[in-house]
Amino acid sequence: MKNIVIFGAPGSGKGTQSDKIIAEYGVAHISTGDVLRGEIKAGTELGKTASAYINEGKLVPDSLIIDMLAVTLDAKGKDIPGVIFDGFPRTIAQAEALNEMLAARGEKVSVVIGLEVDDEELIKRIIARGKTSGRADDNEETAKKRLNTYYSQTLPLKDFYINEGKYAKIQGVGTIDGIYADIKKAIDAAE
Ligand code: AMP
Repeated sequence: MKNIVIFGAPGSGKGTQSDKIIAEYGVAHISTGDVLRGEIKAGTELGKTASAYINEGKLVPDSLIIDMLAVTLDAKGKDIPGVIFDGFPRTIAQAEALNEMLAARGEKVSVVIGLEVDDEELIKRIIARGKTSGRADDNEETAKKRLNTYYSQTLPLKDFYINEGKYAKIQGVGTIDGIYADIKKAIDAAE
């Protein structure tokens, strides 16, 4: 199975490129942001707790996310060619939990696609997306908070995955198809 982590700051193109990866490789998509937005829409307890963090540009606590991820992963069943993890992991604790969850299923992370985009471009993209996404957190103020959260809590994962020999650095600026061509090379080179 190909278990792909797509990694990068908010606005780096994770969702856009995930769609292309899914279309080509048929992997199941797990976006923790999408699952959380579904919980908020459904008015669940988890959704109520999560929305307070999301609106502040903060991370939802690890324990909630890790439990939610395990349930979501099990719901995909065994009959899939792999999974793309989009927006997860976002902390070292989540990455360690993912390694354990996959190992318990006889699996591992195949490759981490690291989309690298500079801050100015990220903020521009999030504000542009906010015009149509309907997302409460796609505005300049929250975007800046989300970026700070990314640098303090999520970026350390880059070294974590470099140490594991799994990080594929991808220049996340250019045409969508050009960026995807680099991603495809990294996925095809992975075990
Ligand atoms: P995203 O759609 O991936 O940009 O996620 C939107 C928001 O949901 C983030 O800013 C976080 O508040 C929350 N979130 C999504 N995924 C995670 C995660 N893996 N860990 C903690 N919080 C998350």
